[in-house]
Amino acid sequence: MITTDIAIIGAGPVGLFAIFEAGLLKMRCHLIDYLPQAGGQLSEIYPKKPIYDIPGFPSVLAQELVDNLMAQAKPFNPSFTFGERIESLEKKEECSFLLTTNMGTQVQAKVVVIAGGLGCFEPRKPEVAGLEKYENGKGVSYMVLDPEKYRNKRVMIAGGGDSALDWAIYLADLTKELTLVHRSESFRGAPDSVSKVMKLAEDGKIKVLVNTNLTKINGDVILKSVGLANSKTNEEQVIDVDNLIPLFGLSPKLGPIETWGLNLDKNAIEVNTDDYSTNVSGIYAIGDINTYTNKLKLILCGFHEAALMSHSAYKYMNPGIKYTMKYTTVQGVNTF
Ligand SMILES: Cc1cc2nc3c(=O)[nH]c(=O)nc-3n(C[C@H](O)[C@H](O)[C@H](O)COP(=O)(O)OP(=O)(O)OC[C@H]3O[C@@H](n4cnc5c(N)ncnc54)[C@H](O)[C@@H]3O)c2cc1C
Repeated sequence: MITTDIAIIGAGPVGLFAIFEAGLLKMRCHLIDYLPQAGGQLSEIYPKKPIYDIPGFPSVLAQELVDNLMAQAKPFNPSFTFGERIESLEKKEECSFLLTTNMGTQVQAKVVVIAGGLGCFEPRKPEVAGLEKYENGKGVSYMVLDPEKYRNKRVMIAGGGDSALDWAIYLADLTKELTLVHRSESFRGAPDSVSKVMKLAEDGKIKVLVNTNLTKINGDVILKSVGLANSKTNEEQVIDVDNLIPLFGLSPKLGPIETWGLNLDKNAIEVNTDDYSTNVSGIYAIGDINTYTNKLKLILCGFHEAALMSHSAYKYMNPGIKYTMKYTTVQGVNTF
C-alpha cells in the first residue's frame, strides 16, 4: 500500500506542475499514469514539436518542457506508478481515499487530484479472436514497459508507425528473434527509422513481413504462436513467439473516471473555479479533464489551476491552520 498526501491521477504537464505547487505547501505527491512515462500528450503525441505559449519560453520542445517539469518537481521527492490505470476510487472517510489500479496497486491518500487530460490512452487492438486471453502477462502487451522483459525472447511487433519502428530497432539486439509485421508496404514512421529497420532486416538481425496481417493467435494458457496471412499472395504462415506487441497507436478514453460519482459534462469533470474542486470534497480536477465556463484546454491554464487547487487542498487537509502565501523568491524551494 502506497500512502501519500495527494494522489495525482495523470502525469501529464499539469499533474507534474501540481507536484511543485503542492510541494511548496509541504504536501507529498504520488502520481499514477497508464502510460509508461511522464508527460501525457506532450510525450506521447508531440514530443518534438515546439510550443510557443508557455510564459517565459519563446519556444520550447514538448519533451523539453516535460523534462523541465520533472526537474522542477524533483526537490519534492514525488513517487510514480507508471503503466497502470486507476480503476476504482473510494472515499473511506474525510481525508482518506483508496485508489486501486488495474494491476491491484493500492494508493491511500488524503486528497485526490484528477489530472487525467483526455483520459487514458487506450491501445488500438488488432481484430484477432481471443487476443485478450493472452493479455496481462501471458504474452500479449500493447506497450513496452520494461525492454529487459524481452531479452533472449522470440518477439513479434505489429505496426508501421514510429512506436513499432523505434521498438523494433531498440529490441533488435536484445531479443533472440524479432519479427516486424506490417499490413502495408509503406511505413508511417520517420524515414530515418524506416531505413534503420530495413538495414537491420538486410543484416539478418530482424525479419520484416510487409503486406501481412495477424490472423490467429495460439497457445494454451500462454502465447505460443501467431498466424499470419499475406494480403497480396494469400500465403499463410505460423510463427512461434513468446511475445506479441501490437503497436497500432493509442486513443484517449475517459474510462473508469466515468464511474466515480463525479458530475460530468460530456467527457469532462465539472469543477468549481474557486479552487477546481469537484462535487466530492477532497477530489479536485485540473487540466484538460475539467470543464467550466470559458475553459481553455491550454497547458498554462492547467498550471494556474494546479496552484489554486494546492492552496485549497492544504486547507482541506489542515482545517483551522492558516497558511500565509510566500513568494518562492522569499522562501526558496524548501524540500522535505
Ligand atoms: C498536437 C497537439 C499540440 C498541442 N499544442 C499545444 C500548445 O501549443 N500549447 C498548449 O498550451 N497546449 C497544447 N496542446 C494541448 C496540451 O497538450 C494539453 O492541454 C495538455 O497536455 C493537458 O495536460 P494534462 O496534464 O491536463 O493532460 P494530459 O497531457 O492529457 O495527461 C493526462 C495523463 O493522464 C493519464 N490518465 C488518464 N486517466 C488515467 C487513469 N484512470 N489512470 C492512470 N492514468 C490516467 C493519461 O495516460 C495521460 O498521460 C496540444 C495538444 C496536442 C494534441
